[in-house]
Amino acid sequence: MTVKIGVAGATGRMGRAVVTCAWDRPDVQLCALLSGPDSAGEREQAGVRVTDRPKALFDCADVVIDFTAPEATVRFAQLAADSGTALVSGTTGLDARQQAMVDLAGERAAILQAANFSLGVNLLLALTRTAARALGADWDIEILEMHHRQKVDAPSGTALALGAAAADGRDRSPADALSSDRPVFDRKGKRQDGAIGYAVLRGGTVPGDHSVIFAGPDERVMLSHAAGDRSIFAKGAVSAAVWLAGKAPGRYGMADMLGLSVHANPKQPVPARRPAGQDGD
Ligand code: NAD
Repeated sequence: MTVKIGVAGATGRMGRAVVTCAWDRPDVQLCALLSGPDSAGEREQAGVRVTDRPKALFDCADVVIDFTAPEATVRFAQLAADSGTALVSGTTGLDARQQAMVDLAGERAAILQAANFSLGVNLLLALTRTAARALGADWDIEILEMHHRQKVDAPSGTALALGAAAADGRDRSPADALSSDRPVFDRKGKRQDGAIGYAVLRGGTVPGDHSVIFAGPDERVMLSHAAGDRSIFAKGAVSAAVWLAGKAPGRYGMADMLGLSVHANPKQPVPARRPAGQDGD
């Protein structure tokens, strides 16, 4: 079966990588590309329709792949719900209200959201959950990430997902992993017990590096992933679209596609359709 795909954000860094990847796959047909807000009108490029109307993507595609900006993702989720067309979204930096709207749309369309589509990072998420569970609360957790200088959200969605995975491993709510909800330092600047800390570096063209450091008494465990090229995210997103095509409405994550949910946390299997499907830029 050939899966018809529409790409939102097609002129962006990730959108271009997705288009390149999709061209190379015999099981995928590009049916429409959404141009950015600064480029109006309709045209054709290598036989594919380029449009400024988001609805046109949802009318022709089995699955729309979105790498844009949070407010656009909310709009795409609503269009997915109205049309029944599935949505794969890699956009990061959604606030709680925007995320809730995407979750609501997941009641009427299959929506797979992941802050990181690489196989390696999804394995890192599972390993982080396992390590946090095994090492216990007296090991401090610090998450370090570096991205290119153009990135607009910080910490990265992947860093936050790693924090949530660590919190989950300790049977704590993912909200505990947000430094805004639970400050890492007290007013004097001393580290708080049990806090999950984030360190953010920005520069150059780095596609995405993440490390989770577990610092215990007299020893450290360090789990790391480095993305060499953003094509790894594009390949994962296109594979996710092929996997999602034809699925029932619901919220999905990369762990569902990769079968990592149950093994990631034997005590608390993650339901196949999670209420908030942020998995893990
Ligand atoms: P970019 O700035 O290069 O591209 C964004 C694209 O979205 C541009 O073409 C822009 O015109 C378009 N866009 C912005 N607002 C829009 C709107 N309202 N309607 C339609 N189009 C709109 O950014 P990028 O590096 O490609 O990243 C895009 C998003 O993907 C970011 O949120 C980033 O964090 C995320 N990302 C996720 C992964 C992952 O694996 N999930 C990997 C890399 C980047």
